[in-house]
Amino acid sequence: MGIMRTALLWASENPWMRRNVPRWGFVRQALKRFMPGEDVADAVEAAKSFRERDISTIFTHLGENVTHLSEAGEAAKHYLVVLDWIAAEKLPTEISLKLTQIGFDLSEEQTYRNFSAIAARAASMGNTVWIDMEGSAYTQRTIDFYGRARGEHSNVGLCLQAYLYRTEQDIAGLLPLSPAIRLVKGAYREPKEVAFEKKSQVDENYLKLSRQLLKASREGRGRTVLGTHDLKIIAELEKFAAGEGIDRQRLEFHLLYGIKTAEQRRLARAGYRVGVLISYGEFWYPWYMRRLAERPANVLFVLKNMFSG
Ligand SMILES: Cc1cc2nc3c(=O)[nH]c(=O)nc-3n(C[C@H](O)[C@H](O)[C@H](O)COP(=O)(O)OP(=O)(O)OC[C@H]3O[C@@H](n4cnc5c(N)ncnc54)[C@H](O)[C@@H]3O)c2cc1C
Repeated sequence: MGIMRTALLWASENPWMRRNVPRWGFVRQALKRFMPGEDVADAVEAAKSFRERDISTIFTHLGENVTHLSEAGEAAKHYLVVLDWIAAEKLPTEISLKLTQIGFDLSEEQTYRNFSAIAARAASMGNTVWIDMEGSAYTQRTIDFYGRARGEHSNVGLCLQAYLYRTEQDIAGLLPLSPAIRLVKGAYREPKEVAFEKKSQVDENYLKLSRQLLKASREGRGRTVLGTHDLKIIAELEKFAAGEGIDRQRLEFHLLYGIKTAEQRRLARAGYRVGVLISYGEFWYPWYMRRLAERPANVLFVLKNMFSG
């Protein structure tokens, strides 16, 4: 892992920086590239314009590691309101949330109740709820939680991270559930005991796991979503799917708002299923630091805003 990436991931967890950086105007200015706004209304407007291009959306209300159950309850209620809004606007929009945002650090049972209420409301409108994957301290608990939720709700999906050694085993264990899996590379600072260190190893594992998942979903064992902006990997997977006779409408890519926009449009025009994950909310600091860490050149963009405004 590069020094800059390590430093940015360290900063994402630093309490002083969490408190202070969000007040800096030039950082807020630079943030606009990755977020249409802090309010759900901003996300809804963005979703409408993606819909015109045959691109669906996924909403995430930023927040993680809440420290009071009341906050967890508020976060869950917010998603219920958002689902109503999605239904009213007839948007092709799913939601994605972090378990620690709805109480995972505090009470697993309350988290399950919060999650179940959201999943049930989403099911009533034919919608899917995705569970983000957080740092490796949560991996096993999140997978167990998903297994329990999947037993009760058919409309739930789980994010898995290709940088973890364990993910291949996890996929094998989950396949009997016909899971919806969004495969990503992984965004947290992880020790070498649990995660591949080199980008080439992560990329190789990503390709291997996505091929396994695509084959399984072609056989009717679940839904596979490829969460990546890596153009080489996307091209490889397009080739693989064509070779395997997987229809373009069964190949689904999700990308983040503001990243590889031209590729998002190209994939949609080519007939693939494309979703853009839109994050909004006030608690953006740790999430934004992880985005900077993914491409340290983004820091130059932030600095440019410091000197220009
Ligand atoms: C839909 C979606 C959901 C996700 N959910 C989770 C989750 O639940 N848990 C989790 O750990 N991670 C999640 N991630 C983040 C993921 O783990 C990676 O950190 C992130 O996607 C970067 O990896 P990459 O596959 O794009 O490949 P990379 O090799 O990192 O990037 C490929 C290219 O994409 C561009 N790019 C990538 N990131 C950025 C950026 N931040 N800014 C500008 N350009 C960029 C660059 O041109 C880069 O060369 C999610 C990602 C997506 C797309």
